[in-house]
Amino acid sequence: MKVLTILSGKGGTGKTTLSASLAVLLAKKKKIIVADCDADAPNLGLALGLFDKNFLSWQKVQTNEKAVLDEKKCEGCKKCLEVCNFGAIGWNNKKNKPIFNSMLCEGCGSCMLICPNNAIKLVKVKNGKVGIANSKYGFKFISGQLKVGATGSGKIVSLIKDKTEKLGKKEKAEIMLADSAAGVGCPVIASIQGSDYVIAITEPTPSALNDLKRALRTVEHFRIPYGIVINKWDLNKNFSKKIEEFAEKYKIPILGKIPYDKQFVNALVNLKPIVVFDKRFEPIFTKILSKLKIK
Ligand code: SF4
Ligand code: SF4
Repeated sequence: MKVLTILSGKGGTGKTTLSASLAVLLAKKKKIIVADCDADAPNLGLALGLFDKNFLSWQKVQTNEKAVLDEKKCEGCKKCLEVCNFGAIGWNNKKNKPIFNSMLCEGCGSCMLICPNNAIKLVKVKNGKVGIANSKYGFKFISGQLKVGATGSGKIVSLIKDKTEKLGKKEKAEIMLADSAAGVGCPVIASIQGSDYVIAITEPTPSALNDLKRALRTVEHFRIPYGIVINKWDLNKNFSKKIEEFAEKYKIPILGKIPYDKQFVNALVNLKPIVVFDKRFEPIFTKILSKLKIK
């Protein structure tokens, strides 16, 4: 099973729109499985017309740990307070003992290691859920959601990909399409790891190009081949030219250019991929697929 990942350095550049339409078109020719790897803001399901209630099952997941204090063992040395880099430990003067803020704790374990009295342990916490749905476009869809205020979305993404891979193999899927989170953090790294090809979508603005370059450095680290799609290219043709020049300089293929059109917004509002909502746009996405180095 080949893994095709779609990412964008900057949020709001049209990644979900691209993922939804490519998934629909790919599913017409191949057996595919789709993963929404944006556990912080999972929207691909909505773009495909899927709500939480449409999922066959939701499984609560524990991919993170939090520090917990055994007050009886604590002697108030304050070593844990000094070592926490996340501001997750306060101090209770009355008791002369630390107070752990579970919202801020990243589960790094430093306090546990430094405590001379073995008074701190890490416990697993439920920090999200992962679900499977049947989309109406002929493929299975796996999505995950990070609990509000929780940490560990990168690990949830790894779990989503794991589940998608296992299910994909069972279903004999030829392609896994993964919709990555935006940015360059843990969820993105977890999304692109093991990919065979990455499509990076951007728009003609300085911030989008800047974020694109950062995201591409992450992709290059993993030596994964990639290409660029410019969304809303006609809103700033001069800047689109700059992106094309950048691509030419570094020999990066431009896979396609998507124009600005209100129908894209209407498609999202109507919870349909644009290639389903307005067939006039299908050739743009078909052309992008034809240029992919993944068959
Ligand atoms: S586990 Fe890490 S983040 Fe959490 S309280 Fe301890 S030192 Fe701070
Ligand atoms: S390091 Fe251990 S003993 Fe010292 S204050 Fe923290 S929990 Fe208590």
